[in-house]
Amino acid sequence: MKMVTITEHKEIESSYVFKVNKTEEDWNKELNADQFYILRKKGTERPFTSEFETQWDGGLYQCAGCGEELFSSDGKFDSGCGWPSFYEAIDKTKIVTKTDETHGMVRTEIMCASCGGHLGHVFDDGPKNKTGLRYCVNGLALKFKKA
Ligand SMILES: [Zn+2]
Repeated sequence: MKMVTITEHKEIESSYVFKVNKTEEDWNKELNADQFYILRKKGTERPFTSEFETQWDGGLYQCAGCGEELFSSDGKFDSGCGWPSFYEAIDKTKIVTKTDETHGMVRTEIMCASCGGHLGHVFDDGPKNKTGLRYCVNGLALKFKKA
């Protein structure tokens, strides 16, 4: 069985209350259908469909739900896995984690620490000369702000 990836981020319980706390109805109105499915229903976009996967412009990646800045282009790398990948977040407080045992796997889910939006998962097969982590993020969960 795969071990949970250890990170410096706060591991939360299901009862955790996020700073940005909106009803499902509100999110449904604010987000488009794809974003709602990813961020609020913990969906996964199809691999190799995000424009961000192969984008290398300098800038910041924000949460598509609440606008919080989560990742920088400085921490992005080409993992080839089909989703935008980062080896670190802007700050450890920007992300929270939760153990995800769905689909017969044990994975570490990553969420926006501000609104609880589902981003993707973090794995321990990232660049060894950096953090060793791979934040595998749905492009639909992100907005890009060019530097
Ligand atoms: Zn957010």
